[in-house]
Amino acid sequence: MTSLERAAPARLTWLSERRPAFESLLEELVRQQSPSEDQARLEAISELVGARLHELVHPDRLELVPGLGRPALRLSLGRGGEPKVLLLAHLDTVWDVDSFDPLYTVRDGIAYGPGVFDMKGGLVVGAAALAALQEEGWTGPEVTLLCTTDEEVGSAASRALIESEARRHRAVLVLEPPVAGAVKTARKGVGTYHIEVEGRAAHAGLEPEKGVNAVVELAALVGQIAALGRPEVGTTVNPTVFRGGGRVNVVPAHAELSCDVRFATAAEADRLEQEMRELRAHDPQATVTVRGGANRPPLEPAASRELFALARDVATDLGLPQLQSAMVGGGSDGNFTAAVGVPTLDGLGIVGGNAHAPGEWAELASIAPRAALLAGVIEAVCLGALQ
Ligand SMILES: [Zn+2]
Repeated sequence: MTSLERAAPARLTWLSERRPAFESLLEELVRQQSPSEDQARLEAISELVGARLHELVHPDRLELVPGLGRPALRLSLGRGGEPKVLLLAHLDTVWDVDSFDPLYTVRDGIAYGPGVFDMKGGLVVGAAALAALQEEGWTGPEVTLLCTTDEEVGSAASRALIESEARRHRAVLVLEPPVAGAVKTARKGVGTYHIEVEGRAAHAGLEPEKGVNAVVELAALVGQIAALGRPEVGTTVNPTVFRGGGRVNVVPAHAELSCDVRFATAAEADRLEQEMRELRAHDPQATVTVRGGANRPPLEPAASRELFALARDVATDLGLPQLQSAMVGGGSDGNFTAAVGVPTLDGLGIVGGNAHAPGEWAELASIAPRAALLAGVIEAVCLGALQ
């Protein structure tokens, strides 16, 4: 039996005994509402999280990262050797203020509230894991927790910071929600394309032959665009917004289409990019302009394989049910870290459901076991378990 296996159950006990403190932290974080677009509230939650992490984790370093145009918080433990593990969390939620009434409730061990699952509960799991490691007298290498505030709107402001922090570390663990407890070992990449057609306006009654109908031209392309999807390899292309024309008696000069695209591999993202750029109108007088592209690369299974095997062993050592894995369509900041070549495992947050949907919930009893799992994976990576 390794020291890790001996320590694991004691750590789970320590975490379970502190459950009330973690539950009240979760309530406090959910009550401090934090929509992605509300700068004042994002600053407020960053301050709150900084203060609570300071009390709970006693980190070696804790700072607000300046210069992003929105708040971000970085905390770390340990000073020995190369930085090993980066934990990723986001403090923003998809919910407008007062979307939930009551704001926060607990019934039968289930908490309900905006962001309770995605991902304030995950942040509590991360804080609990770090508190446990620090309580045990962490002397290992640097472990960093990065909390950003724009994940739900695509992470434009924090992407470069996330990537540079990832490169500094040996592995990335993302505190996003799991799928029915299963960690996420693959995520599709995400993109948006905007296709505009310019034709020529003309009076629909007097001289329609002088017009070039942009709506007709773009409509003829929609089927072709939708057919770029290859569901059998995980690529979907969904035309979602179509606009065109202005007046009923004018041949329309302009039409535009937006498409949501998802892909499981970088190769498919490249294929889509190329085929989108090659779109041409049937009428040579109409011009097609394509903007947009992939904004989150895919998290491919190879990036998480070793970490998942490690996490499964840690779960077994803890006496937890066998850890499952899931592949999902939505992207997270883990997509960025995997794409820069750093092993990444996602979905290590709290157990729950209804992310981004009414009735979002989280299971309070899962905080301690998920934190013990996370702490075990952090420790194993720091002990050199990755190849
Ligand atoms: Zn999230």
